[in-house]
Amino acid sequence: MLTGNYKVLYEHLTPEIDQKRIFHDPLYTLAFGTDASFYRLIPRMVIRAKNENEISLIIRESSKLKIPLTFRAAGTSLSGQAVTDSVLVIAGDDWREFRINEDGSLINLQPGLTGGRVNSLLAPYGRKIGPDPASINAAMIGGIAANNASGMCCGTAQNSYQTIAGMRIIMADGTTLDTSDSQSRISFTESHKKLLSDISAMAESVKGNPILSARIRKKYKMKNTTGYSLNALTDFSDPFDIIEHLMIGSEGTLGFIANITFKTVKEYPCRASSLIIFPDIETACNAVNILKTLPVSAAELIDRAGLRSVENVKGMPPYLRCLQKNACALLVETVSSDRDSLNKYIKKTETALGKIPTETGIRFTAIPAEYELLWKIRKGLFPSVGAMRRTGTTVIIEDVAFPVSRLAEATTDLQRLLKESGYDEAVIFGHALEGNLHFVFTQDFNIQPEVDRYAGFMNEVTRLVVNKYDGSLKAEHGTGRNMAPFVELEWGKEAYGLMKEIKHIFDPENLLNPGVILNPSPDVHLRNLKPLPGASEITDKCTECGFCETSCVSAGLTLTPRQRIAVHREMTHLEKTGKEPHIAAALARSFSYTGDKTCATDGLCAINCPVNIDTGKLIKWIRAEHIRNGERGALWIADRMSMVTSAARTALSAISFFHGVLGTRVMKALSGGFRSISGGRIPQWNPFLPSGAKKIRIGATTGSGDRNRVVYFPSCINRSMGLSADQREEKQLSDVMVQLLKKGGYEAIYPENMDNLCCGMAFSSKGYVKAGERKSAELEAALIKASNNGEYPVLCDMSPCLYTMRENMKALKLYEPVEFITTFLLPCLDIKPVEEVVTVFPVCSMKKMELDGKLADLARACARNVIVADTACCGFAGDRGFTYPELNEHGLRNLRAQLPPSVMNGYSTSRTCEIGLSLHSGISYRSIIYLVDRASGSAEN
Ligand SMILES: Cc1cc2nc3c(=O)[nH]c(=O)nc-3n(C[C@H](O)[C@H](O)[C@H](O)COP(=O)(O)OP(=O)(O)OC[C@H]3O[C@@H](n4cnc5c(N)ncnc54)[C@H](O)[C@@H]3O)c2cc1C
Repeated sequence: MLTGNYKVLYEHLTPEIDQKRIFHDPLYTLAFGTDASFYRLIPRMVIRAKNENEISLIIRESSKLKIPLTFRAAGTSLSGQAVTDSVLVIAGDDWREFRINEDGSLINLQPGLTGGRVNSLLAPYGRKIGPDPASINAAMIGGIAANNASGMCCGTAQNSYQTIAGMRIIMADGTTLDTSDSQSRISFTESHKKLLSDISAMAESVKGNPILSARIRKKYKMKNTTGYSLNALTDFSDPFDIIEHLMIGSEGTLGFIANITFKTVKEYPCRASSLIIFPDIETACNAVNILKTLPVSAAELIDRAGLRSVENVKGMPPYLRCLQKNACALLVETVSSDRDSLNKYIKKTETALGKIPTETGIRFTAIPAEYELLWKIRKGLFPSVGAMRRTGTTVIIEDVAFPVSRLAEATTDLQRLLKESGYDEAVIFGHALEGNLHFVFTQDFNIQPEVDRYAGFMNEVTRLVVNKYDGSLKAEHGTGRNMAPFVELEWGKEAYGLMKEIKHIFDPENLLNPGVILNPSPDVHLRNLKPLPGASEITDKCTECGFCETSCVSAGLTLTPRQRIAVHREMTHLEKTGKEPHIAAALARSFSYTGDKTCATDGLCAINCPVNIDTGKLIKWIRAEHIRNGERGALWIADRMSMVTSAARTALSAISFFHGVLGTRVMKALSGGFRSISGGRIPQWNPFLPSGAKKIRIGATTGSGDRNRVVYFPSCINRSMGLSADQREEKQLSDVMVQLLKKGGYEAIYPENMDNLCCGMAFSSKGYVKAGERKSAELEAALIKASNNGEYPVLCDMSPCLYTMRENMKALKLYEPVEFITTFLLPCLDIKPVEEVVTVFPVCSMKKMELDGKLADLARACARNVIVADTACCGFAGDRGFTYPELNEHGLRNLRAQLPPSVMNGYSTSRTCEIGLSLHSGISYRSIIYLVDRASGSAEN
């Protein structure tokens, strides 16, 4: 409930900003308020801003009311800079425009694009953006620039600070400044004379102070994101250049980044990597000093504890398990434009390190599968600690930098400090070429002695880094609240004074993300620590990093997986403790739709999750809990599948008949009316709803005995759903499948009692666990029999069903259509690609089985031109597209724009998804089996 100035602000904003994008209820404020850090502040209000006018308005109105604002991109920050208990302004989804110049050397970006997406846009030019945080696939441009994030390769040479070529900023008074637009500079010069002259004066004074200037220069030889980017004052004289560079790393405390132009960097196509094991840290660090002089793009240090934490991960080299206790690794990468130079670089590196003792020699590999495995070791370090932690504890990743020349000594000191402070499970790794070390450890914040231990440890770390090594307390992750108390310690009084002055010049009222970077409180890093109470074994390992959000279809409609987990944690905690019952009730009420009903349970979130959490499983569990005693109906249906599919066929045919008679417009109006009268209980009709399928005649396909055999299991969906109005000329899918099998020399065998069989997904996805298990067991038994105890391959014509079967049935050789066609039929078919532009849509189960590339390849074999649209899940989610059509509409909101008018047909591998795809793309989607059948000509027998 909004009160006081927040209520007034709401009233001032709502005439201009859609109320649907302003949140102040317990669920959304908690959900959006959550970020990857270990701090929790719940905003009073969350606004999903759409454009610059809205940002200006929000800034101006909140400034009048003295209400603080915090900007948010993807919320993957680790230091508490993206959380607030005031107003959170999100600039993500609606800020995704970009412009690339002719040769790809410059890219102009809105702040809501993820770094990964930007790099995929630049890939055709052989370019990428300079900043390369490990979180690049989730982190957005606004956050990458505002944190001056960096990673394994970019160092201090290719970060946002070094590669920025222009910025559009909305200042604390709501004015817009575009540093690359001369007109904007002129008007800003007129309107903000004082601001510009203050900045120029400050830069002059710093340049006139040789000791301070030298200190600033020295500090930025190392990676450093502690405090403001003071190097802007020594590197530039033009106040506009200074402003845009001060904005880099300013963590939303100086203004809003509405747009940024980056100079891009070359993406080298040839790579080779080597995991080199040294007997101890000193030797590894000696090697780093040599590597610094070589054409090496990355050298990642991994300490013994780090290697131990991943030694049992599938695919890791077995020698990791028997290394001696002081061993230390460097994962070295070299890149090049061509193979010859790559080989030269490898030779050079091997020769240069020739005299340094190693445990297992030096062997570079340029084979993608091999070097990707090595990088998996490195990338698995943070999650491996996260996954080992006790429920209720937090995983903390710190981020410091030392002079490279003293890296060995510093790493040993850090190891000692971690041991002395009782962090026995801690691992150290980092970007050795930059002297940048991360250390990861688990921490309990539930009891005061543990908070005290953390406080003591942090004091020791800051003393070690600053007093002994004059290093950086935050090399890449930003100061946030976590290092705010130590900025003065690191920089000294004079430089800290400059930072306060900068903040005052840009934001005199201290309303932009106050308390972040500069904070007068010495214990701000120990306040508002986030609770992570145990709530479900399925999700307890979640660190709320937010990597899952980009692949979630309900992100932007309702909740993301991270938000579902955060809200579920809170609901469970409130329920267990009996605290704040009215909040608990409000959360439960809203969660039913936002958390449960609109979750597609597609499991795509697990792909990007560092600890492989499938939040869909949590939601299925919640659904099962709700119907714990209500499975009787589902079991009754499960036992009568034949009757159900037959009834579905009849009903679909009847609906299709009425569609034919009444036409699309009348059908839409009628069905919409019925749906609305029923309060959304009657499913949504759409013109792509198919008519009922013809019943499959078993035995009709048996061919001669010399054919190969395959057990063909048409899914219950394809046994029920026939052709839609746009497909009248076609045969139904099961017939086409059999026809194609014949062409490829295969005889289809159907499992016995097929009409009653189902993979069980239709039940289990709704929480009917027992019914799902029963159907799955029946199907498995029938397939074992039909396949002669697993001798013949089994083909199912829907990928989602096949995926479910694969999860549950281990003794069978199971194939979905693309896999089966590619493996068994393609070599025997005479393919003549159709002269058409087609598009393919890999459904979630294909992505999870890593078959999406194969779908595109198969389509390319069968059609001249293939477009693969960039979307995650379509949101149809089984039958949810009928009951919650808004999820499907949201999932495919960007599809139509990606398909040029020349696209004739779309292909996929899931009948229900195809209904939604046709509805929202304007073209007709069907199974890829149809395309292969068309391209392979007529059957000979
Ligand atoms: C597992 C993991 C690994 C990570 N690895 C790295 C790494 O290798 N290197 C690294 O540097 N970081 C890393 N991070 C931290 C984080 O991902 C990055 O700093 C990232 O750049 C933050 O981007 P974001 O989009 O999540 O920004 P957010 O967290 O949303 O915001 C970051 C800051 O920018 C401000 N902000 C956001 N948008 C704007 C805007 N439009 N205008 C002005 N200010 C804005 C916010 O107020 C906030 O202060 C990692 C995080 C995790 C969880």
